[in-house]
Amino acid sequence: MTCTAFYPGSFDPVTFGHLDIISRAARLFDRLVIGVGVHHGKSPIFSGEERVAMLEEVIEPVAGKYGVTISVVTFDNLAVEAARHEGAEAIVRGLRNSGDFDYEMQMAGMNGAMAQDLETVFLAATPHVRHIAAKFVRQIAAFGGDVTAFVPDIVADSLKSKFEK
Ligand code: ADP
Repeated sequence: MTCTAFYPGSFDPVTFGHLDIISRAARLFDRLVIGVGVHHGKSPIFSGEERVAMLEEVIEPVAGKYGVTISVVTFDNLAVEAARHEGAEAIVRGLRNSGDFDYEMQMAGMNGAMAQDLETVFLAATPHVRHIAAKFVRQIAAFGGDVTAFVPDIVADSLKSKFEK
């Protein structure tokens, strides 16, 4: 039996923190589907297509390294529904701090009540990336700051051109 995990998030943009979770999930599961949330009402910096394109580029070496199928999709419905649609048995989330813990526990509880067939698997953030949050990356980039310690170069370049416009 193969086991598929669904990793949902905004990925606006993908950071080294997300990549750390993706690499570690790739060692645990046979197939990983990254779900980029594109819900109405949110105003992301990057469009769904741009976020998918950046993710696809940066996950390529990870998929090759672990010999795992990693794909990227967008979704605009409930994460549990999107996960089921992808044939996943698990939802992967990262935990950075107590704020994440409180929020994620509550969300996992509600998701669990809606979908008993899906297990939420938490991966504790690796110390060297646990401070990274996409929200702060966006703020630093908006002020013209250097974000190369937090995101892959292609993402830093995309942020630069986005804010130069
Ligand atoms: P952010 O919270 O940075 O805006 P997302 O909403 O896209 O990012 O988060 C998707 C998932 O990735 C969440 O489970 C979040 O806790 C996790 N995550 C984000 N950044 C990190 C990090 N630096 N280390 C571990 N997990 C992270």
